[in-house]
Amino acid sequence: SKVRIYALAKDLGVDSGRMLEILSDLGVQFKSSSSTLDEETVEAIKTILAEEKNSATPTTPTATTPSAQGDSAPALQNQGAPTATVEREVAPRDTAPKNEVPHRAPVVTIMGHVDHGKTSLLDYIRKTRVAAKEAGGITQHVGAFEAKTSKGKIVFIDTPGHEAFTSIRARGANVADIAIIVVAADDSIMPQTREAIAHAQAAKVPLIVAINKMDLPTANIDKVKQDLIAQNLVPEEFGGDTIVVGVSARTGEGVEDLLEMISLVAELEDLRADPKAELGGVVVESRVDRQMGVLANVIVQQGTLRVGDFLVVGERYGKIKALTDSLGARIKDAGPSTPVQILGFSEAPTAGDMVASARNEHEAREMVQSRVTVRRDGEQAREKRRMTLDDIFGAGGEVREINLVLRADTQGSVEAIQGILARKTSEQVNLNVMLAGIGAPTEGDVLLASTANATILCFSVVPSPGVQKVATQKGIELKTYRIIYELIDEVDRLIKGTQEPVF
Ligand code: GDP
Repeated sequence: SKVRIYALAKDLGVDSGRMLEILSDLGVQFKSSSSTLDEETVEAIKTILAEEKNSATPTTPTATTPSAQGDSAPALQNQGAPTATVEREVAPRDTAPKNEVPHRAPVVTIMGHVDHGKTSLLDYIRKTRVAAKEAGGITQHVGAFEAKTSKGKIVFIDTPGHEAFTSIRARGANVADIAIIVVAADDSIMPQTREAIAHAQAAKVPLIVAINKMDLPTANIDKVKQDLIAQNLVPEEFGGDTIVVGVSARTGEGVEDLLEMISLVAELEDLRADPKAELGGVVVESRVDRQMGVLANVIVQQGTLRVGDFLVVGERYGKIKALTDSLGARIKDAGPSTPVQILGFSEAPTAGDMVASARNEHEAREMVQSRVTVRRDGEQAREKRRMTLDDIFGAGGEVREINLVLRADTQGSVEAIQGILARKTSEQVNLNVMLAGIGAPTEGDVLLASTANATILCFSVVPSPGVQKVATQKGIELKTYRIIYELIDEVDRLIKGTQEPVF
């Protein structure tokens, strides 16, 4: 029968990182820690571990031979059958090539339908797992907090919901390592649950389903599981790969199990980051405090942030004046997977912006300058191309113009979608966003679209029935999306459509 990777690691009492090493040596492909292994692989793993145990006795044949030490050629050996690997494992463990980069804590995001208990679950974890260090010390909102567990730290992003997640991802950054999909046991899967699942899957982030409100007499866990199966998320007990944990944010039931599952998945994801590497971080959110000024909440992804460092974010730079951790304490530096609040920017950066460091102010200024130049060049090139396209188009050439009217809920979404569209413009197809605005489409938009034969794409805004009616009358396509990727899919379809030869 099939066995899940993390369950096997637990059963055999081995470190999950070691399990991954063995799997990659064996050339076994897997999607996530909850992927199943066939019997053959399980047997091979057991053999390897048994050999390893036996060879832990003082006289190992290879350990005494200098040439066999250091285990410097695993790449050659691991191409063979499992037995080759077994031989390799005869070498003492500590001479095996170790990835020198240290582990880092997982960053977790909680998503799900409104009222299913995302905030409550975060609150429960914060209350029970965050040590209030100083008496009377108020925990600071720095965009994320660190929960202590017996298996180490877990960083939880503080803003539940997929909006934050998506706006960060739309800018090309990926901050979460694991997504918790909260489903209320009395309500089961709802529209936003489906969206949350889609977002996690699109980001290729492993997900764990937390069935919340288990304390309610109306809790119907079987229904939730059936509905999960309908979403292609088959719980383990039904032979699938989806980790499902029952919890109650009210009583705390199951939260321990949930944290343990997060740690297990994280271990198997083998998350590492080098604190000595060049700095990399992502802005989770930012705001302007009337007294303090601009406060940017950042999660460090690699490298180390230090007070006094010059940072470049987008087309701005700043010098770190102060760093605050999630317990409200002033700190001097922050390594990988640490959420911090940065004081030192003159303008608020946008969520999803990447943070880089510069050696000094001069370099910071140069970096900003070159970013500005790159952007302007790009704009000019686009402008030029548009003119040529117009020429060709006017002359009956092959270049196609797709006119779009774009409507979205926030400036961030508008920018994100425009950014993606800009990249899709090619020599054959010019995506021309005639109007991009915040809020529901208006009758004016429909008129504009009808004059230019444009398609109206709406993201997270709903057209009024009146506007919808006018669009139908005028034969204008008016489409509404709640998931960016679906909107992009539609654009891809439009592009494909125009590329088909017209007879
Ligand atoms: P969110 O919109 O997903 O952040 O949901 P909230 O955390 O605001 O919770 C919505 C409602 O459900 C609130 O009234 C909570 O008190 C309640 N709630 C959350 N978790 C539980 C739970 O485990 N059990 C029960 N009985 N109620 C819960």
